[in-house]
Amino acid sequence: MLLKQMEGSVSELAVKPSVNESDSVAPGLTRRIVSYFDHEFIQPSLNKVERDVDEMTEAGFTNVVLCITEKDIASQSRLDFLTDTVGHMKDCGLEVWADPWSVGSVFGGEAGSSFKDDGEKRCMCNPKLDTLIRHWLDASASTGIDTVFWDEPEMKDCRKHRSGEVKFIEKYTAAAGKRALKSVVCLCADYSKMHQFAQVANLPDVTEIATDPYFPYPFRYPKIPEDMHLEHIEKWADFTRATAEQAGIDWHIWVQTFGIPNGRESMVDEHIDTLRARGVGSIAVWGFHGCESVPGFAKETDASPDIMWRRITNTLARS
Ligand SMILES: [Zn+2]
Repeated sequence: MLLKQMEGSVSELAVKPSVNESDSVAPGLTRRIVSYFDHEFIQPSLNKVERDVDEMTEAGFTNVVLCITEKDIASQSRLDFLTDTVGHMKDCGLEVWADPWSVGSVFGGEAGSSFKDDGEKRCMCNPKLDTLIRHWLDASASTGIDTVFWDEPEMKDCRKHRSGEVKFIEKYTAAAGKRALKSVVCLCADYSKMHQFAQVANLPDVTEIATDPYFPYPFRYPKIPEDMHLEHIEKWADFTRATAEQAGIDWHIWVQTFGIPNGRESMVDEHIDTLRARGVGSIAVWGFHGCESVPGFAKETDASPDIMWRRITNTLARS
């Protein structure tokens, strides 16, 4: 099913190969981006954050995607903690993007959602979702961030709006713009929604697009056969680049450090080398310390988060 989708979609894409001889000797990475959500699962401690930020900067990361959840915005003490966190990250030279992680359960993420647990309809036609997202925007802006990372927005509960994400994104990137916040939008590497990329990239308040062509990812997609992993990544890198360049905006591609099978740790090297060969100058990693803080996230058959983190930071350091 997926393979048929891939073949059909890819053959319909009129994206010219964007790699040429000069691109293949691309300069070093201009940006290394990492997601950070340890505060969501571990008792918040600024000392811990300071140690983590040291690790990020020593590994050469330039940007951090800071997850700000429903739980965070419901508590002034957590927002104060995040304000200190953002301040420290910026003092250390990191650019901080806020991610509405699992907010309203219409964005990606493993954090909980009271909104979902309360049985609320997870769709743009629910006025309570509008109230929640505007509250999130105001609360996140108060922490000192200057960019929102809109993470895999998807309308899940409503047949009418199931593919209405572009209208949703237009509405809330405009709301972010009114609060002087830039908007990066990450869309799922979903072959059935490729048409949304150009629409989103051309929205007036969108400054950057991204996608996450994860391959052994077991939750959202059928597994992609191993002999198609690199082709999958190449297609999404070329497509995202062409779309961003046509719209005149920035772009980046995500690499996963979780769910990598034991014995296949070199997958991350292959992923990064493939992106570099396609001229990708900004690579993002999900997530800090291989997502070790998310309870129950790593399976017994997965490579350990610690090993994956060391591996990916070493690989990025030579990129
Ligand atoms: Zn709806």
